[in-house]
Amino acid sequence: MEDQVEEIKRKNDIVEVVGAYVTLKKLGRHHKGLCPFHSEKTPSFMVNEEMGLYKCFGCGAGGDVIKFLMEIEGIDFRDALERLAEKAGVKLVSRKREDGDARTKMLEVMNLAARYYHWMLTEGNAGREAREYLAKRNISAKLIETFNLGFSMQSWEGIVNYLVKKKGYKIDILEKVGLVSRKEGGGVYDKFRGRIMFPLQDSSGKVVGFTGRVLPSIAKEGEPKYLNSPETPLYHKSRMLYGFVQAKNAIREKKRVVLVEGQMDCISSFGAGVTETVAIGGTALTEDQVEILARLADQILLSMDADEAGNVAMKRSTEQAERRGLSVKVVQVKGGKDPDEIARNSPEKWKKMVESSVDIYEYVMERAFEKNDSKSIEGIKKITEEVVPFLSKIENNVVREVWSKRLAEKLGVDTKVVVSEMERVYSGKKVEFKKIGENSEDPNDSKIARLAKRFIGLLILKMKDSEVVSPWFSGLTVPGGEGKLISWLFKTNLNIGIEEMMKTMPDELKEIAGEAYMAEGENDKVGEKEVEESAVLLLREVIKMRKSELMDSMNRAKKDNDDAEEERIFGEMNELNKKESKLIAFLG
Ligand SMILES: [Zn+2]
Repeated sequence: MEDQVEEIKRKNDIVEVVGAYVTLKKLGRHHKGLCPFHSEKTPSFMVNEEMGLYKCFGCGAGGDVIKFLMEIEGIDFRDALERLAEKAGVKLVSRKREDGDARTKMLEVMNLAARYYHWMLTEGNAGREAREYLAKRNISAKLIETFNLGFSMQSWEGIVNYLVKKKGYKIDILEKVGLVSRKEGGGVYDKFRGRIMFPLQDSSGKVVGFTGRVLPSIAKEGEPKYLNSPETPLYHKSRMLYGFVQAKNAIREKKRVVLVEGQMDCISSFGAGVTETVAIGGTALTEDQVEILARLADQILLSMDADEAGNVAMKRSTEQAERRGLSVKVVQVKGGKDPDEIARNSPEKWKKMVESSVDIYEYVMERAFEKNDSKSIEGIKKITEEVVPFLSKIENNVVREVWSKRLAEKLGVDTKVVVSEMERVYSGKKVEFKKIGENSEDPNDSKIARLAKRFIGLLILKMKDSEVVSPWFSGLTVPGGEGKLISWLFKTNLNIGIEEMMKTMPDELKEIAGEAYMAEGENDKVGEKEVEESAVLLLREVIKMRKSELMDSMNRAKKDNDDAEEERIFGEMNELNKKESKLIAFLG
């Protein structure tokens, strides 16, 4: 498998793959364009063919061709690999998931079933009533096409006859994908009968299951209004995001996603022009779903029923989303039963509602104040009980502090009261607040890291200078991944090309190498002493850091009366000073 991944990466030209999404311009050894992952007017997105890597110097996105496809299409590693394999004509050796051939067969069956149901809705006689029903609900022919809607006739053997008798598939496979149910006395019958069919597609667009909504005129007592495919080797409810394939371009563009409950909500919202909508059912977001969304969006707009169940779902969804760094807002559904009804009756109203969504904490607080009397002791107690558990889950200290203060102000109490209540909810754990701005410096972007990256970029361009500068680094440690990469570069063969170099480079160092190299942009000719100068600037910073560490150890040794240690530190300090003077002399 490992080899196949490498083979697929090698056989796919990253410039070509990225070029299908981004207009790239050749710039020296690299290609440059507008980043597809954040909005910008001047290009800071670079692609390098030799290294097979991309890097955005605006938002930090970066990686290889597989990662690019995953991020831009919102698909998982396996799907990205499959697509690239197909493109390069590599036959993937199946992995543990599900036996490759069986999986392909099952997808084939589901695809055919979707087409059968779709034909029945759009052209079949049996679909006339369903057509009329959808037309009455303002579901246009275009939406029916976009979402590939269908109709299952009121028959026990519609899909069975089509797939088994006409297409020659085995009954076993129909059962495996959940299209049929087994009769008690043997034999099978259609699971979906007399229902509008919503194909459930995975994030790469393959049909993996169905939801069927019963036609009101033929609804029978005791039958569910909505019927879903069971869990199958293809369909996993926890991973399903209905409408994701249709919405993903808009999600990527707007960097946000509107979450609704049902399929009809989703389609109507899409039809109203809010094309970044997906449906998750009445439950909370799962980790898998957040994972898929987080590849494309920064923000989630929840639009769920405002009942108790909806509230619980909202809270859980918020936790999941925030853990993955997404911010959460709430679309307040007013003046209609659900998003479907509002979007159908007044697309403009629904759009406005989405645009005026409020921060999740604002929403929770407002609701609590609406329901309870904040002037009475009892009311204050109820509000606190409702809001504090929500706030105490906020992982970001700054955000938590801001909202705790807001709550205290609204209640007219001291912030300390809210904090102590929070500590109680937190089962006695101490709640710490950090000052805004504290620790705001990104450790990855320290001065040393920046200088090290600059040095690496120049060194890759002019590897033969490595002979001159590598001895200067002896006895000094450049911290982090940059340090590891520099040591690796010093040890590697000076005469190999970049492509060859990338083949032997440890994976964890590749991204740093790519970033450093691409940061050089058009810089093609490295000046006479440029590598050396950059090494000196870096080493001076490294020495400065080491000296300050030594000062600390020195103070400790003095306190402990450890003369030997003091002596040793003194010796090292002397060495460092000598080295430093030499470096300074070099700079002239
Ligand atoms: Zn970017």
